[in-house]
Amino acid sequence: METLYIKVDENNPEIEKVRLAAEIIKRGGLVAFPTETVYGLGANALEEESAIKIYRAKNRPQDNPLIVHIQEVKELSLLAKNVPAKAYELIEKFWPGPLTIIFEKSERVPYKTTGGLDTVAVRMPDHAVARLLIRESGVPIAAPSANLSGKPSPTNAQDVMEDMKGRIDAVIDGGHSKFGVESTVLDLTGSAPVILRPGGVTREELEEVLGQVHVEENIKEGEKPRSPGLKYRHYSPRAEVFLVVGDIKEQVKKIKELALDFEKKGLKVGILATAQTRGEYRQENVLSAGDRDAPLTISSNLFSLLRKFDRMGIDIILAEGIPERGLGLAVMNRLKRASGYKIIPV
Ligand code: AMP
Ligand code: MG
Repeated sequence: METLYIKVDENNPEIEKVRLAAEIIKRGGLVAFPTETVYGLGANALEEESAIKIYRAKNRPQDNPLIVHIQEVKELSLLAKNVPAKAYELIEKFWPGPLTIIFEKSERVPYKTTGGLDTVAVRMPDHAVARLLIRESGVPIAAPSANLSGKPSPTNAQDVMEDMKGRIDAVIDGGHSKFGVESTVLDLTGSAPVILRPGGVTREELEEVLGQVHVEENIKEGEKPRSPGLKYRHYSPRAEVFLVVGDIKEQVKKIKELALDFEKKGLKVGILATAQTRGEYRQENVLSAGDRDAPLTISSNLFSLLRKFDRMGIDIILAEGIPERGLGLAVMNRLKRASGYKIIPV
């Protein structure tokens, strides 16, 4: 299949170009498009056959549900039932934006879209191109991240093409995603709200509305890092990732030691540093993710840098940890998973 490449103005997308992509969605095809979090791989959320194509293109396990994207709050009633009052407070404050909310699903949403679940994940993206595409398609758009399953999510159209060229009908190039990590997934179907995935809307921001919010962890505080398992591979570059956490001076010391050890074994080492520590390392392949005091600068670069290390032919990535506050929680969640929980405390 030939993948159509559509370049648009990200702030004022040309309507005739977006309509080309919307026609593909209406015909049941797949279109990758920019959002403020990462690029999504979109299809008609209300058609089973369209949703199936997403799983196939990504090699995504059939039980991993898709997020449904809307562009007006009134579309929510088509997708969800028994929407709790709290949800409207969150919607008022955080939509459009990087918050996905889990609701009971309506009959209209096919089980293929929800990975067989009776719940549906819904979000309203804050991106002119995404909003126009949904409007012109006339249907809610199911869209997971536009990467092959297991790989880092794409944050620009070139990274989408790296994984999806020839597998999807079109990609809309609307520049670089602002957040660079996926949306926060918040489950409102239980007795208390739970963050299933930390993301662009922070725990602290949600707690201003909801009071204390629990974050579901795959690995508990103080628990020993598990050995890498296929089951946990996610956001993973080809290179093996090790995440060093703790006092920053000690992190740098540890990373220097590890780099020497791996280099002695003949492996090509890359270091994912920060603006503050970049100059500490003498190694050849050191990239700065951004400013430790401004986690948005790090989140927005993280996935594209993991992909860059792969293009550089790096075998081992040694990554610095950052404080798990604000967007730092989402960054660390992605790094832990990218490392397969190979976390080294100092
Ligand atoms: P992606 O957009 O590729 O980052 O994947 C969507 C994320 O949303 C995955 O982590 C899913 O497990 C999660 N998700 C989507 N729908 C649901 C749902 N109904 N219940 C729980 N999690 C969901
Ligand atoms: Mg994904």
